[in-house]
Amino acid sequence: MRLKGKTALITGGNSGIGLATARLFVAEGARVAITGRNRETLDAAVKELGANVLAVQADATDPAALERAVAATVERFGGLDVVFANAGIAAQTYVGKTTHEAFASVLQTNITGVFFTVQAAAPHLKAGASVILTSSVHSELGMPGYSAYAASKGALKAMASVLAAELAPRAVRVNVVSPGATLTPIWEKNAPTPEAFAKMERGMSATIPMGRMGKPEEIARTVLFLASDDASYVSGQDLFVDGGVNGAALGAPLFRTSQPM
Ligand code: NAP
Repeated sequence: MRLKGKTALITGGNSGIGLATARLFVAEGARVAITGRNRETLDAAVKELGANVLAVQADATDPAALERAVAATVERFGGLDVVFANAGIAAQTYVGKTTHEAFASVLQTNITGVFFTVQAAAPHLKAGASVILTSSVHSELGMPGYSAYAASKGALKAMASVLAAELAPRAVRVNVVSPGATLTPIWEKNAPTPEAFAKMERGMSATIPMGRMGKPEEIARTVLFLASDDASYVSGQDLFVDGGVNGAALGAPLFRTSQPM
């Protein structure tokens, strides 16, 4: 068990990547606090994962709610060994079609929410603790329509470098995980029916060297690595878990020739 006796806080732990990570962390011996806005999915996660999970309803855009979530976690489980600042939203913000409010809301959740998560947790981080921020392959892709989302995710790498430097004197590591397209509910807004989802998945898979979208469990295993002592000398890094998109884009099925190897 790689997290035996450790305490972790996961924002956005009631769905997708955060929930898969909570599941894995509990299986690896951790006590886990999860946050999110949706009470029903928070309760369902506790029902599934048992007494080692505490669910706190907290909006990541509200610093006071984040402070309360951290306080509740520390009161129940003690000081923090792991913080996975993972809550985030995706939205399209095409040039010429975007309101100030829509743009700001992405930055507010994905950048400011992450900073204030870490700030709330900071006084309670133990020596040797690990902080992980969820960015995205969008920080590098240049995909049309995603200015705010891409900017927010790129900002996290810059922020992680600063946080890693600030927290190094306390032996706290800070890293980024950058998932590629992963099968979670975040896609449901763009592809609300099973047919639309299957079409989206086919199209997306053609652009990924591994030829398929990722599973949340595959991101969770990387987060576990960064959270655990296996990564005790890793800090300030951005780890892409994207089936090769960032490192080997031209290996995607879309670009393959029929020439045999
Ligand atoms: P998801 O299933 O939609 O999960 C998003 C999580 O964030 C939910 O738990 C949601 O909980 C929480 N959240 C969103 N806004 C929040 C707020 N204001 N306050 C508190 N919690 C909030 O999607 P996911 O794919 O697992 O996303 C997790 C992270 O991975 C995000 O940062 C996303 O940008 C990133 N990511 C995803 C992909 C992908 O393809 N799936 C790829 C790259 C990066 P509530 O709704 O209950 O608030």
